[in-house]
Amino acid sequence: MLLFRGRGSFRAGYYPHFQNSPSVIFSAKPGMDRRLLAPLLVLLLICGGCKKAQNLGKPDAKSSPAANKAAASPTPAVAAAPTPTPMPAIDRNARFIVLCYHRFEDKPHDSLAIAPTEFHAQMQALKDNDIAVIPMKDLLAWRRGEKSIPPKSCVISIDDGYISGYNVAWPMLKEFGYPFTMFIYTNYVEVGGKSMTWAQLEEMRDAGVDIECHTVSHRDLRHAPAGQDYNTWLHSEIYTSKDILEQHLGIKISVFAFPYGTFNETVRKMALEAGYEALFTVYGQHMGIDAPADQLGRYAIESTHPDVFKAALNFGANGEPASGPIASAQLAAASMVTQPMNDEHISDSKPTIKANLATMGEVEPTSVEMRVSGFGLVPAKYDPQTKLVSYEFTQRLVPKTYTVILSAKVNGKKVETKWNFTVDSNAPMAKSAAAG
Ligand SMILES: [Zn+2]
Repeated sequence: MLLFRGRGSFRAGYYPHFQNSPSVIFSAKPGMDRRLLAPLLVLLLICGGCKKAQNLGKPDAKSSPAANKAAASPTPAVAAAPTPTPMPAIDRNARFIVLCYHRFEDKPHDSLAIAPTEFHAQMQALKDNDIAVIPMKDLLAWRRGEKSIPPKSCVISIDDGYISGYNVAWPMLKEFGYPFTMFIYTNYVEVGGKSMTWAQLEEMRDAGVDIECHTVSHRDLRHAPAGQDYNTWLHSEIYTSKDILEQHLGIKISVFAFPYGTFNETVRKMALEAGYEALFTVYGQHMGIDAPADQLGRYAIESTHPDVFKAALNFGANGEPASGPIASAQLAAASMVTQPMNDEHISDSKPTIKANLATMGEVEPTSVEMRVSGFGLVPAKYDPQTKLVSYEFTQRLVPKTYTVILSAKVNGKKVETKWNFTVDSNAPMAKSAAAG
């Protein structure tokens, strides 16, 4: 029996990078609140992280010189001049993907490595499929409404700081002229083995490679090491890592990638407070301009799961624009891996269980089944378009731990994953639930 990639609580990995990669916002009525909150969060983030916050209240001053002139002029006759307000040349219907790589090795023998030849072929495939590789800063600028990006765009990221990113991937990326981002966790710089040195990072910085933050220790941010105060430790992982990179390299860090893609409400909030403009998970998806900044999904490319790259390449027929309220609501919901996520404690006794099967490849829609311990098969709904499977409990769950088992057929084979969550009346209520 095959397992779903990286979602199961029981999957043993050489390096448990994607063992539990759900990225979920805690919320009593999760799907609905996320949808409502996503645009707000984006707005909040822009306000929080941008020096131009004071301009937000008077957008005309910036976006419409004509209106500005008219307002400043004492003679209303000026308004008669046929000066149409220019529309900003921003393609709000563009869509993007973010790819996440780790190591590049000739004989990849774990899920984090990929053969250089395969990587090279993937870089070529991006070109062949008219997918434009753009720098992280362009993606951020587009989301702020400051510049446009091509209709099918891709950001490439390489995690952790392995030397093969420097000596194998970089030359190939140069060959294609592709910009990319290195997500570095600071404890792994210059420690020997497969790690990079500060000098190598400086060299990459000087060549225009984007370097961003991936914590200090690369631990799952939901749990402090034994004996350490959670908030103090978390603060260091989120703030100190940024300081170290900024001070060593003299750069401005803008974005953050959660180790293993996992986080909780405290992590998410603190990272936004720390001034990161975007937070990245490892849940791959095609995204639009409204995709929530606090959980942008990346496709984790591993040689053991070639379907993931294929899924990333597929922007859909005619590049179906991801615009409009319905599409963005779907994106918000689709950015969840499982909900509640593995090992999560929730206070809501009537939760909606959700999982996204988008990276699974061709799921046979009628084959999707959800089971819950103590309930057996539940009538979960599967939407082949969004690849979301969901089930809303109609009765209250008694406080205890539940196991969810999902199965489906992919290319004729049955695959299965499972995860646990705990209903716990002492679990803190999610902020978003109160807001919604
Ligand atoms: Zn990592």
